Amino acid sequence: MKCNIKGCYVTSLIVACLLCMTILASSVTAGAATSGAVTAVASSAKASAIKFAEDNAGITVDIAKSLWEYAEIGLAEYKSYVKARDVLAGAGFVIKQSAAGIPTCLVATWGSGQPVLGIYEDIDALPGVGHGCGHNLNTAAGVVAAMAIKSAMELHQIPGTIKVFLNPAEEIWDVAPLVAAAGYYDDVDVLLSFHAGTENVSEFGSTMAMDHVEYRFKGKAAHASAAPEKGLSALDAVEIMNIAVNFLREHLIQEMRIHYVITDGGAAPNIVPATAASRYFIRAPKYPDVAYARKRIDDCAKAAALATGTELVIGFSSGIYNKVPNKALALLAAEAIESVAPAQFTDGQIAQMKALGISGIPDKDIKEPTGSQSYGSNPIGDVTWKTPSTTLGVATWAPGTAGHSVEAAVQSGAVYGFEGAVQASKALAAMGIELLTNPESLAAVKSEFAERMKGMPPYEGKAMIPEVAYPEAPGFTVSAVDGMVSVKAAETAFAEAAGDVIVISSMQGDELAAYTLSAQAAAQPEYAFKIPGGVGAGQRLKITFIDASDDSDAWFYGYVHAQ
Ligand SMILES: [Zn+2]
Repeated sequence: MKCNIKGCYVTSLIVACLLCMTILASSVTAGAATSGAVTAVASSAKASAIKFAEDNAGITVDIAKSLWEYAEIGLAEYKSYVKARDVLAGAGFVIKQSAAGIPTCLVATWGSGQPVLGIYEDIDALPGVGHGCGHNLNTAAGVVAAMAIKSAMELHQIPGTIKVFLNPAEEIWDVAPLVAAAGYYDDVDVLLSFHAGTENVSEFGSTMAMDHVEYRFKGKAAHASAAPEKGLSALDAVEIMNIAVNFLREHLIQEMRIHYVITDGGAAPNIVPATAASRYFIRAPKYPDVAYARKRIDDCAKAAALATGTELVIGFSSGIYNKVPNKALALLAAEAIESVAPAQFTDGQIAQMKALGISGIPDKDIKEPTGSQSYGSNPIGDVTWKTPSTTLGVATWAPGTAGHSVEAAVQSGAVYGFEGAVQASKALAAMGIELLTNPESLAAVKSEFAERMKGMPPYEGKAMIPEVAYPEAPGFTVSAVDGMVSVKAAETAFAEAAGDVIVISSMQGDELAAYTLSAQAAAQPEYAFKIPGGVGAGQRLKITFIDASDDSDAWFYGYVHAQ
């Protein structure tokens, strides 16, 4: 979909802030003033959490390796989802499968009561490049950090709840806003995240809020030379709208970014175009400015339709919010990164990476937290309107490695990435314990959040994902001829067993078939069942998998079109 500099915004926010030093120093002094008991629990719990992450480095590497091998792109992260889900479930987390109606989105919860600590990690790979954004490392570190925090909470009787959010399709679609709109973040007090990259740094930067809109015009075709008076040009409407918007720019705030492409401009010069369309990205540092510009741009489109006698249709509309920074949290993240020594590499490991074409060694320096306005947009923005958040960076790649590159992908699947992810799991764990055990730290973060949100309108989810974005659910084909559903066991993301149920429903939610696997079918590489009422060609169906062995836990598995 987009060119909105998705992902890796941590590395794009490298503007040193001199203020940080002073504030860091003063927060250290404030820390020393907290009661000795709180500090003692905090430091021994942090040590336990870090030790757990270290002792379970094998799990971090296993998840990172598996996800790297799967290299599944946005909304197709089935195997990656199962891998992370099973580790979390095995560790005692309660899993909400297919959260917000997205098949590969999960929210895992452990504990009870306040405070609620969130951990948010991307999981998808890039088309063609694999894990060139290192999301395999993000998820691995986040999952093990959550387990480490849980273990320390149990050991030291620390109250609270951990919620893990695994975010699919970060690179291409806006899933996180749908999860935010569905209310999953409403009870989260603070949210931590890790992103792979070339630096050891935390951030308090902002991203741009953005509306993504398709404006379609419907006119009337005619011979452009022989009978132009009989035509109504949809392309004229697109052009008039663009001109109006270009005049409008002068009267919008300076920091806005508005860009468009014409996606349909007609077929041939001698035909008056009956249809034409453009797609706009409308961006501003804060969502209310986008909302204002959006209304004015919609008016430009309406005016263009009126001027040309054409009809305006909004074909597609999605929106994401700006990222709300939190400096108090970024400073805590910096302390957490510092409390965990950077990864060390042996000569043998360095030679091994050289053999893979990687000549540098991941940076050991820890940078000051950075905060600036990025002109890109990121779906985490919506989440940051709900709860204070920061993303910490731990070096997983050699200096100079470009995000989304083959070199980044190579390192994300090798010792540099794996060791970086292990260090990140420790830093996240230390930071999580700090926020759960030190009420002053959490209060500072929350009061900064309240201050930054003053005057902002209530959050309303604007994002949507069009139907075309979803892949066919793996392993399924449905025949429109005889209503047969054929399932290839090797291609499904679930493990077939007797008693499991596959439910096929219409898009309206009506159940069309419910098939219970027999022991015989479950043992076959392929099995089939019939939709009694049949289905139409091209009809879109929903598939739900109900796992008999797991307390009949239901997984909305995805969509398939009858053929
Ligand atoms: Zn990324």
